[in-house]
Amino acid sequence: MKVKVGVNGFGTIGKRVAFAVTKQDDMELVGVVKKNVDVAALQAIAQGFKLYVPSNEDAKIFEEAGLKVYGTLQDLLEKVDVIVDATPGGVGQQYKSVYGKFNVKQVYEGGEKPDVAEISFNSLCNYENALRKSSVRVVSCNTTGLLRIICAFKGYVNVESVRAVIVRRAADPKEVKRGPINSIELDPPKAPSHHARDVKTVLPELNIVTYAVVVPTTLAHIHHVTLRLSSNVSRQDIISILEKTPRIILVNSEKTGITGTAGLIEAARDVRLRYDIPELAVFEDSILVDGREVMLFQAVHQESIVIPENIDAIRAITGIEMNPFKSIEKTDSSLGLTRKLW
Ligand code: NAD
Repeated sequence: MKVKVGVNGFGTIGKRVAFAVTKQDDMELVGVVKKNVDVAALQAIAQGFKLYVPSNEDAKIFEEAGLKVYGTLQDLLEKVDVIVDATPGGVGQQYKSVYGKFNVKQVYEGGEKPDVAEISFNSLCNYENALRKSSVRVVSCNTTGLLRIICAFKGYVNVESVRAVIVRRAADPKEVKRGPINSIELDPPKAPSHHARDVKTVLPELNIVTYAVVVPTTLAHIHHVTLRLSSNVSRQDIISILEKTPRIILVNSEKTGITGTAGLIEAARDVRLRYDIPELAVFEDSILVDGREVMLFQAVHQESIVIPENIDAIRAITGIEMNPFKSIEKTDSSLGLTRKLW
């Protein structure tokens, strides 16, 4: 029996989750909820996705534009086991009671407040805690990047503290109205940034402080991360651990010539749909080890890093796969993440 999935909100995250669901042999995409008539709606139809709309009024607008609609969100909720809410931050909370009425399991995104769901989620860190829950929140892109690097060390050595500076991209490529366009903005000016708090929704005991700035670029975020470990490790140990960890790629600048987000994205353009890089990209030559302290730069492709986590979250809450590493492996091979970028 395949898990029946609906996606509410067909933007940057929703369209990628919907596509990823169609690649799973244990899931079926029943339909997607689209709010506006636009190119994404046309493409959804062209891909064979069934379109649903938030309300009957929206259905009229779609039908007047000649687009076939299969019903409202409520009609979709009658047919699914899980709804993935990929509406803009804060809107998911407004839908929570509607989802509850139809008794469907819920996956929310990182723009929602943590209390929208029973648990905040990252596949490597706390898959087991999400098993059979009624709702989960997949944390945001930056938080996912931080959790991936922290939980890579699980089972090898304890991470005692984390200090990170997050250099955030200003906007996604399609977001023409966001800035800054000529500043490096402290975001926020008063330290710390909220990212540490968000990491602690998954790892409550962790000693972590984060700062953030926002810069005029759209391609990806960069983090400078300092991890203090419970025992001395060599640089080679760190590299071996990261090489063995799923969803982390090491970028060797000497071999590839890649020294930043532009080079990384350019490489992905040739081999990945939409130039997505759902893996965390760690710049190998930036790794410095000083006793118990490890420092490195890592890049986060904000539009795609949370997509595999959404697929694992569906498996965890429905209990169709109890083992995190089996789910991760299944998700990654179905999405082509086990193939190297170069
Ligand atoms: P988006 O604006 O690209 O997409 C949201 C979609 O929801 C749009 O298509 C919009 O038309 C639709 N929508 C708006 N109101 C709706 C409603 N009432 N009912 C149904 N659909 C509605 O946003 P996004 O970037 O995909 O973000 C979605 C969630 O994912 C947010 O919580 C965000 O914080 C989180 N997230 C975004 C990124 C990113 O970089 N874009 C990364 C990680 C997590």
